[in-house]
Amino acid sequence: MLMKLRIHIHVLFFVGVLLPGASSSSSSSSSEEEQGGSQSKGASHEHWGYEDQESWSSAFKHCSGTSQSPIDVDTNGVTFDPSLPAITLDGYDLTSEPAGLTLFNNGHTLKLQLPDSLQIVSGFNTTFHAAQLHFHWGTVAVPGSEHTIDQVHFPAEMHIVHYNSKYEGLAEAASQPDGLAVLGAFIGIGLHENKEYEKILAALTDVSIEESNTEIPGFNVRHLLPNDLRRFYRYTGSLTTPPCFQTVTWTLFNDTVSLSRRQMAALEETLKADQSRQLNKNFRVPQLLHGRSVLASFTDTSSPGGVSPARHDESKAAGIDVHSSTGVHATESLPKGDILAVAFGILFAVTLLILTVFWCRQRKTHSSVRKESWQDVSYKQTKTQDV
Ligand SMILES: [Zn+2]
Repeated sequence: MLMKLRIHIHVLFFVGVLLPGASSSSSSSSSEEEQGGSQSKGASHEHWGYEDQESWSSAFKHCSGTSQSPIDVDTNGVTFDPSLPAITLDGYDLTSEPAGLTLFNNGHTLKLQLPDSLQIVSGFNTTFHAAQLHFHWGTVAVPGSEHTIDQVHFPAEMHIVHYNSKYEGLAEAASQPDGLAVLGAFIGIGLHENKEYEKILAALTDVSIEESNTEIPGFNVRHLLPNDLRRFYRYTGSLTTPPCFQTVTWTLFNDTVSLSRRQMAALEETLKADQSRQLNKNFRVPQLLHGRSVLASFTDTSSPGGVSPARHDESKAAGIDVHSSTGVHATESLPKGDILAVAFGILFAVTLLILTVFWCRQRKTHSSVRKESWQDVSYKQTKTQDV
């Protein structure tokens, strides 16, 4: 049964809740009310749900635009762009954050509010402040990432939403063409518990009811992302929920992170929307590119994450991951392996060459000295080897 979200939401609510940075909800029981307190009310209330995505555009005109998200990344069709600058993050370590962080079930997603001290300091031509992160997921049978790689879904996807520092906050930036930068990480399933994600997932039961929130201790948010931030896809798109503003510069990391099957099940089965219905399958289907290009910061796009795209399959995912102690992939060791392989290859080739030259010389000498008895000698050697 698809989701049937029936929440009264207006445009400002979405800006605040799906992209809230303007709304640092710590005690609200209703994000809508909270937004209403700081923003002017009056925008028309609209319903939307993931079960009727095709109708979003009737109430939200941007949803039928030509730069919508998510998309399918066709790895054969991406363009390598060596000029794409690496993403550098600052302030992501909130381990000593005294206030804690607000985790919130808004009926559409699980959302963690982030202070604007978290920043993308390079990777774009300006600084972006973080506002929140949230998740998209499916069920045990239906993988729920929003973006797909070569038309394959991952079990889940995390988005860290940032807004351009030239704007006052997320609410203002969300409708500006250069307003938002979202970092997307694909989440697969592995054998090991992910201790970093557990800092969020351990509090799931506290926010199982829609519109409920809780405080969790600060932690290093960087550890929720893949180790290697150098390999990513980049394209321009939109919010993946109404009002679908086409204001997002997307960065999708090639390397993935993983949760244990138990952790993924907790994400898929704990939260509720509308009091009783399970909150899952909260992903929008991939949208058409309409001529947009997808850039890649790396050349080998044949194996996302250094692996085939993660399917909702433990054995497959288990083969994928190279876990560090944090449960985050440690794929940066791969280039060293490549270098070793090349070195051994060269060593082997040189050794083979020397042996071949040596053997040829020996044979030449041998045949010239004992030309007449060559056949006999050769025959005897063969007999010896057979024994
Ligand atoms: Zn999202």
